[in-house]
Amino acid sequence: MAKIPINIKDGTVQKEEDQTIVGIDLGTTNSLIAYIKDGDVTVVKDEQGKNSLVPSIIHFGSNGSIEVGAGARSKLISNPERTIYSVKRLMGKAYDDVQNFEDYLGYKIINEDEAALVKIKVDDKFYTPVSLSSEILKVLKARAEKAIGKAISKAVITVPAYFNDAQRQATRDAGKLAGLDVMRIVNEPTAASLAYGLGLNREDEKVIAVYDLGGGTFDVSILQIQNGIFEVLSTNGDTFLGGDDFDKVIINQWKTDLNITDEVIKSNKSLGQQLRLAAEEAKKQLSSSDNFSSNIDGHEVSISKTTFEDLIKSLVQKTLDSCNKALKDAELTIKDIQHVVMVGGSTRVPLVKQSVADFFDQEVFDELDPDEVVAKGAALQADILAGNRKDFLLLDITPLSLGIETVGGLMDPIIPRNSKVPGGAGRQYTTSVDGQKNLKIAIYQGERDLVEFNRKLGEFILKDIPPMAAGMPKIEVKFMLDADGILTVKAEELRSKTETQIEIKSTYGISEEEMAKMLLDSIQNAESDIKIKALLEAKNEGQNIVLASARFIKQNQEILEPEEIAQINVLRENLSKAIKNDGKDKINLEMEALNNYTTPLAERAMDYNIKQSLQGKKI
Ligand code: AMP
Repeated sequence: MAKIPINIKDGTVQKEEDQTIVGIDLGTTNSLIAYIKDGDVTVVKDEQGKNSLVPSIIHFGSNGSIEVGAGARSKLISNPERTIYSVKRLMGKAYDDVQNFEDYLGYKIINEDEAALVKIKVDDKFYTPVSLSSEILKVLKARAEKAIGKAISKAVITVPAYFNDAQRQATRDAGKLAGLDVMRIVNEPTAASLAYGLGLNREDEKVIAVYDLGGGTFDVSILQIQNGIFEVLSTNGDTFLGGDDFDKVIINQWKTDLNITDEVIKSNKSLGQQLRLAAEEAKKQLSSSDNFSSNIDGHEVSISKTTFEDLIKSLVQKTLDSCNKALKDAELTIKDIQHVVMVGGSTRVPLVKQSVADFFDQEVFDELDPDEVVAKGAALQADILAGNRKDFLLLDITPLSLGIETVGGLMDPIIPRNSKVPGGAGRQYTTSVDGQKNLKIAIYQGERDLVEFNRKLGEFILKDIPPMAAGMPKIEVKFMLDADGILTVKAEELRSKTETQIEIKSTYGISEEEMAKMLLDSIQNAESDIKIKALLEAKNEGQNIVLASARFIKQNQEILEPEEIAQINVLRENLSKAIKNDGKDKINLEMEALNNYTTPLAERAMDYNIKQSLQGKKI
């Protein structure tokens, strides 16, 4: 097991001192990039040297241009359907997971198959959260390259502690697509603690709380630090609570004061926008003074700090309730918490600071800019990985990702590159054919999205799965990597407990140069790989819908009119043709057409079936 520092440009193995690895905070509202030079952290600012925050917003111009950051933010109100924000909320998510907040987003999210990953539609093009995030990363990368004066190819990217495997993998993929070798995905609270120096000393043994209140989200994490390793004991929070809600209470207060109804705001959008901007300004000003007043459209508005604090009290209390729950889940009490780290722009509000300090019964860590702490910590982690902190022991890591082949020859990484060794991970799969008895598990090593370009380590067949309908078996594939690099892969059908396993030496017969070459290939081919992957996924999803709609017709003959059946068949035929002959956007459009047509029919069928099943029953 070794770290392989390679130069992405020419594929040579680099000397450790040559590399700058950047730290990136890829946020829901804002993103930042930082690096370390001669031991000092620099958070990269815009060209005017003023602002380090890049709004995580992407605007698609009607001419196909892409704009990211403050420029895109200014289009949010005027051009909402072409301006994408909060992409982080969609990373690694299926439509099923995001249905409940679809209304909150001003752009179009596509639902063809509840279990498929979310897509975003602008004009007739479909985008994935991964490709959208990569646009933000590209802008950050360019910003840093300009500041440092040389090309950057390696990064550490932070994610919330509660991100699952799929969300972390999506973040890695976004990095790869932006031309970055993602050395490590680090938890945001861990990065924030590092920025305050917590955990940098290997003797440190502490339990700490990280309280993160941003513009739109809140989370608290309880971390245990031991031997330089951070373990997340618990997390809690509210993905829809933040500084935006503080702005809203001020707006509502002013609407009441001035007798402005929702109808007035609807007919006068600019007034709504002005109120929102003034409310945010008021909130910020009240962090350092006792009163705020201004004039909006000829209306005097004002608010005092005391009134503001009264208005947000219950919101702040909600965050403290979450802190309580996090402590309970970690089976700890306030006395066990040695430090509290404050993260996120909204922790500048004095009432927030004071309430958190009172709750944990101690002074909180708030000296660093709360918007920048995560990026700073990420840069520190990057510096450690670059080997610039000799006092810091690096853990053994896997040099290449390990995964299995899934439908269409795609690589599904189970243990991502740079994971700690020993370690393990698992994922559940199912069958795609009714009554399928055997399932081949082919194991690969490498970074390419298609297994044909990766290195095959072995394969085995999980036999004697009891006959079940497609999609019913629950097959868990577990990868366990021991300290010597021996990989054990186990597959088990959980319902019947049928299982098989093999052992493989994952690094056998591969040199550092070959590994470097594989890594280089993956980054150079990231764009075309991701395109092929998207096409294969669209074909696969389309095929499932073609089959599902045939099943739907068969099961609902008596409910459907002959012309409806004919129309479904026309649309199915169109989709089948697109799968055979066209690209992903056309396939997605045909899926959407078929789906739009069948959704009301499916609802009708469901009502009918419910009525049928209730007939003759007393309720
Ligand atoms: P973040 O998501 O961490 O970038 O946090 C952004 C949030 O912090 C927004 O709701 C901002 O309005 C808020 N914020 C920024 N500066 C201040 C300030 N001085 N006082 C209160 N809230 C602030």
